[in-house]
Amino acid sequence: MSSDGIDLDSVDLEGARVYAIPLTTRFRGITVREGMLIEGPAGWGEFCPFREYDDREAAGWLLSAVEAATLGWPGALRDRVSINCIVPAVGPDRAHEIASGSGCGTAKVKVADHPGSLADDLARVEAVRDALGPSGAIRIDANGGWDTDTAIAVIHQFDQAAGGLQYVEQPCRTLDELAVVRRHVTVRIAADESIRRAGDPLRVAVAGAADIAVLKCTPLGGVRRSVQVAEAAGLPCVVSSALETSVGLAAQVALAATLPELDFACGLGTLSLLHGDLVPEAEALRPVEGYLPVPHTPPRPDPALLDAYEVTDPNQAAWWRQRLRRVHAELTRIRIS
Ligand SMILES: [Mg+2]
Repeated sequence: MSSDGIDLDSVDLEGARVYAIPLTTRFRGITVREGMLIEGPAGWGEFCPFREYDDREAAGWLLSAVEAATLGWPGALRDRVSINCIVPAVGPDRAHEIASGSGCGTAKVKVADHPGSLADDLARVEAVRDALGPSGAIRIDANGGWDTDTAIAVIHQFDQAAGGLQYVEQPCRTLDELAVVRRHVTVRIAADESIRRAGDPLRVAVAGAADIAVLKCTPLGGVRRSVQVAEAAGLPCVVSSALETSVGLAAQVALAATLPELDFACGLGTLSLLHGDLVPEAEALRPVEGYLPVPHTPPRPDPALLDAYEVTDPNQAAWWRQRLRRVHAELTRIRIS
């Protein structure tokens, strides 16, 4: 066991369960969410790095799962967390429906999903403003989809279409590009991928390039490590999901509940993007009236749901089991060296 109290060998790798749950809407290019649940002495953790991530990047995801399964999380400072609704790259009518039906006062709108999407993106943002009314807050997420010139040119248009943007998340890919854009626009810039996909998230000099740090504890290696990243960033933080089931979402809620300051709504209302969940409905982490209650105990998977969403294709299941073993070896290596 290492100094952080996390024992990589105390989780049940052989007994880990592989799941696949269809999405309600295509999201970041996928239509099915896949991952694994791993049990340890303190409960269950979720290991769900996207397929294209290599073992090195997936190591943070595994550390997060092992933290949940072996240690649990620090105590909560609040009993509920304000949530934004998420509006994927859908048409304006559907966008209006999602925002008005969400019960949330804040919406995050996905933009720059594909080349030539600007007119559709602007129409989506206008529809969301109409749905939320003047008191609502709108943020957009470009997932690094623009170059700096494009970002500088279009952010103003989005700000107008939204009647004021709360912030724009990851307009360009790199931190240097974010810094350039930030000097040319008045809208606040949030860094997401620039932090979470950095070689060392604890050493990203994010302060000059962004106004807000988006934290996802699932890729960042767990709640405790994410709190350190928040301290290192020195910026207001927004906790956002990585499209987990309620098992993984519970860690994200624990992070949001334990950060000393939390000024913005968090992106944790994502369970609705999945067609199903792995915990009993009574424990599912679905927002009510724009808030997620902080659970007293982490939700536990329902054996019947684990069976229902179990990956049955032997090749797919073997791919995940091999990945888990490789990433476990990689994480062990990183933590020893
Ligand atoms: Mg993002």
